[in-house]
Amino acid sequence: MESTSHSAPSSAAESEVVDLVSKLIQFDTSNTGEPATTKGEREAAEWVAARLEEAGYDTTYVESGGPGRGNVFARLPGADPSRGALLLHGHLDVVPAEPEDWSVHPFSGAVVDGYVWGRGAIDMKDMVGMLLALARQYKREGTVPPRDLVFAFVADEEAGGKYGSQWLVEHRPDLFEGVTEAVGEVGGFSLSVTNKEGEERRLYLVETAEKGMGWIRLTARGTAGHGSFLPEDNAVTRLAGAVARVGAHTFPLVLTDAVREFLGAVTDETGLDLDPEGPDLSGHLAKLGTISRIIGATLRDTANPTMLDAGYKANVIPQTAHAVLDCRVLPGRQAAFERELDELLGPGIEREWITKLEPYETTFDGHLVDAMNAAILAHDPQGKTVPYMLSGGTDAKAFSKLGIRCFGFAPLQLPPELDFAALFHGIDERVPVDALLFGTRVLDHFLRNS
Ligand SMILES: [Zn+2]
Repeated sequence: MESTSHSAPSSAAESEVVDLVSKLIQFDTSNTGEPATTKGEREAAEWVAARLEEAGYDTTYVESGGPGRGNVFARLPGADPSRGALLLHGHLDVVPAEPEDWSVHPFSGAVVDGYVWGRGAIDMKDMVGMLLALARQYKREGTVPPRDLVFAFVADEEAGGKYGSQWLVEHRPDLFEGVTEAVGEVGGFSLSVTNKEGEERRLYLVETAEKGMGWIRLTARGTAGHGSFLPEDNAVTRLAGAVARVGAHTFPLVLTDAVREFLGAVTDETGLDLDPEGPDLSGHLAKLGTISRIIGATLRDTANPTMLDAGYKANVIPQTAHAVLDCRVLPGRQAAFERELDELLGPGIEREWITKLEPYETTFDGHLVDAMNAAILAHDPQGKTVPYMLSGGTDAKAFSKLGIRCFGFAPLQLPPELDFAALFHGIDERVPVDALLFGTRVLDHFLRNS
């Protein structure tokens, strides 16, 4: 198989990207979801600001809704100010990690065996490092990109952006002035497939859509009483029944454009029968490897029970029982989803949204998409970009509220055997050094033609 990956750095950005990613990982920016215990964002943001200033940028440091929730913005003027600016965003926070579970310390940023190891290596200090390296190179070399580039390194993505992207969009829209398009996570990574001729090909998945994310709190109320009484109106029983019905339910298959295009492109390439009406879609999807977990979850809405809470003593029937559902809803399905859910819950179950983030969808076309295709092809002639929908959510949800067209394109050329999906929030999260060098070259090509 032809490989276009080269280990020898050939630009200033490539020379320092590995070191930058490693240093970023060494900031423990664990986001626990609780502002009181979330840490490190300010220190990481100040360090990023210093690296940008060192190269000649003026930076803006903003705290988003709470002390220490650090964000950094910098602009690089483009050749044509009449064109809309391109936002390049990465989050600085990471999910927590338990050192005893890991082969190396999760905040070591160790560079071992051809990988940079640590929490955030692929989510998403890899992209932050690549963007930072390119931003520094452009400023130092006096590069003028075709349009204004806005670099944004933000807080709180891992808890939904309430103290990050959402706050910034609501309170500081001025920081996004003139921005029409954006590029961030989760896309641009390669998926190796075997084509009809039996050769290995790499598809690069570009995120053009995201499911909505909503957390629902369920409450059942009943009659409190002695645990020895005949059961009549028990809140725990009613809630447990509703939770079990939701958990066992399969929502209908609904094909959005992004998913249809992805399945079509993979079918063309591999000859696998990914016809959604076909008899064995999940069996064929599984042949794509672990990515099938994400793709499978974009074929229908999901509602997973994730928390249960009721009672305080073995012989007391409690008056109330609670549960939480993690719901992921396809674009256009919100009303139908809620109707279906209410039917499953049945009478006597109250529900309230504790978090509700809208789905997002754009089309896979236009100048920016052409620039992504060209950048991949320039550095991997065997590659092909395909659109896909992310089953989770990113800061794109917030930025799209400003009318910004968002994509996930953080390019990485991955070894076929690497279980990439499992590395997200996983143990021994790591990114191949070669993938970072490849990604930096692709992003460079992309930004110079954006
Ligand atoms: Zn992320």
